[in-house]
Amino acid sequence: MQHSSGEKDRLGDKLHDVEAAREDQWARQHDAELLKQIRERPVKLNCPKCGMQLAARKSGPVVLQSCSKEHGAWVTVDQLNVVVKNVAANNHSTRSRR
Ligand SMILES: [Zn+2]
Repeated sequence: MQHSSGEKDRLGDKLHDVEAAREDQWARQHDAELLKQIRERPVKLNCPKCGMQLAARKSGPVVLQSCSKEHGAWVTVDQLNVVVKNVAANNHSTRSRR
């Protein structure tokens, strides 16, 4: 009787790798899908202070959702990064303009 467990194990490892790669791919696709949803359809948010629905507003290059009574605003992290970058750029240009 010939034992071929070595061959089987190798195949098993290969299958495992494929499975892992597939899961990885799925996770990446899932993330991309989520990001797309967030970008295309802003989440409806309400002001924690007055309960009013936040309205999407464009402030320069940044899109944010803010309370119409100006209690506050919701900014996504990537939009916040745009703000930070712009502030840094402005500071830099005012300093270098002198
Ligand atoms: Zn409010």
